[in-house]
Amino acid sequence: MALPRPDFTNLPKFEKCFYLEHPAVSGRTPEEVEQYRREKQIHVYGDGVPKPVKTFEEASFPEYVLEEVLRAGFKEPTPIQCQGWPMALLGRDLIGLAETGSGKTLAYLLPAVVHINAQPYLQSGDGPIVLVLAPTRELAVQIQQECQRFGASSRIKNTVVYGGAPKGPQARDLRGGVEIVIATPGRLIDMLDSRITNLRRVTYLVLDEADRMLDMGFEPQIRKIVDQIRPDRQTLLWSATWPKEVQAIARDFLKDPYQVIIGSPDLKANHNIRQVVEMVEGFAKYPRLRKLLDGEMDGRRILIFVETKRGCDELVRQLRTDGYPALGLHGDKSQQERDWVLQEFKNGTHPIMLATDVAARGLDVKDIKVVVNYDMPKTAEDYVHRIGRTGRAGATGTAYSFFTNGDARLARQVVDVMQEAGQQPPPELMQMMSFGGGGGGGFRGRGGGGGGGGHRGFGGGHGPSMTGSNAIPVATRRY
Ligand code: AMP
Repeated sequence: MALPRPDFTNLPKFEKCFYLEHPAVSGRTPEEVEQYRREKQIHVYGDGVPKPVKTFEEASFPEYVLEEVLRAGFKEPTPIQCQGWPMALLGRDLIGLAETGSGKTLAYLLPAVVHINAQPYLQSGDGPIVLVLAPTRELAVQIQQECQRFGASSRIKNTVVYGGAPKGPQARDLRGGVEIVIATPGRLIDMLDSRITNLRRVTYLVLDEADRMLDMGFEPQIRKIVDQIRPDRQTLLWSATWPKEVQAIARDFLKDPYQVIIGSPDLKANHNIRQVVEMVEGFAKYPRLRKLLDGEMDGRRILIFVETKRGCDELVRQLRTDGYPALGLHGDKSQQERDWVLQEFKNGTHPIMLATDVAARGLDVKDIKVVVNYDMPKTAEDYVHRIGRTGRAGATGTAYSFFTNGDARLARQVVDVMQEAGQQPPPELMQMMSFGGGGGGGFRGRGGGGGGGGHRGFGGGHGPSMTGSNAIPVATRRY
């Protein structure tokens, strides 16, 4: 049954601006604010951006929300919270470029709690007031845990709706009435199609890990869902990266948004990671990998990145044939299979895991000893992101990269990343760079070189445009 487009005329008005600037915040001079943003690496864009807060008290949350945060024992807000809370509490649309781990969930959830408490109670047959769309079950469940922790005192009900699990209990929750629904797009469409819930009451919409949802092919579903929601809603879009696909949906779904980016505009790798780049010919990769595994295998985890799903399957097969305890993770596997692979990797039964970028994004596996770029990634950002899988929480790790002539476009950026981290790039890589391999160049600093670089930095060939106050000129991630 197709979903009819709702009638958005004559909708009841709703409240979405709740922000009262704390006197301590009002008292800060623009220079002090600038200085603070610089310290915390907060970059903002948009008209009338509010000053960041420095403490939980300054965020002007109602007492019941504040108590929850203090009870959790958090010392201070994270940078995305310092800047994101005033923005979201003002009722404005918001684009946040921040990663999982930055505290972004609470950056949108606490304002959501305030928002809900200012709306009329749910009536029988009403759907949620806050809808959070997330790419995977894992993320949806993590978000729900934060909801449970921080929404409990105001008796806000929530539920999580994702594919691969029985519909019955999810439908029961939805029918019972919940203020917050956290959902993966496919299953939510299912629930809407079968009229188990509706989005007529949604006035606060969150798209979490938007880049990943698009990577996973959810765009048609997201569009279908957003079509069901009143256009004067508040929309918050979160993404770790800022490719043009995400820019396009941001343009379509958000109005005059504030934008906040956390992190340095330079690409930086964790300095605890030893980066080893080996120049190889394609045919030499496999024997080189075996040698490397023989030297490194000691029961600790090794994560190997490959470019394609097929390549992943083939390499897993080859390794297993040769007696290595390897498993593969990619987007064509069922949720059940993916869960199993991850479990085997986490518990060390299969300490070697091969993955594509998409499958590995958002993976939270600790104690990865070695990362191998069997195939180099497409961008320098992905390189930094991949190698950041090791060396977590102060541990050290090693990242090996097999670099072929075909990867020459990345030479300059990889050299920059290595040098910034105080490491010695191999001479062949430096040479490749000087032969013009680093085409895109200039990901440090504005107005860098032209095409070919493939990174999404300041003014580079693939960078977002810098026209207008609403353009984010850089996509940065916290690594
Ligand atoms: P997230 O980026 O939302 O996935 O958050 C990562 C983790 O940080 C979660 O376990 C949060 O509960 C926690 N967290 C969120 N805000 C803070 C804070 N201000 N101080 C310390 N931990 C926080």
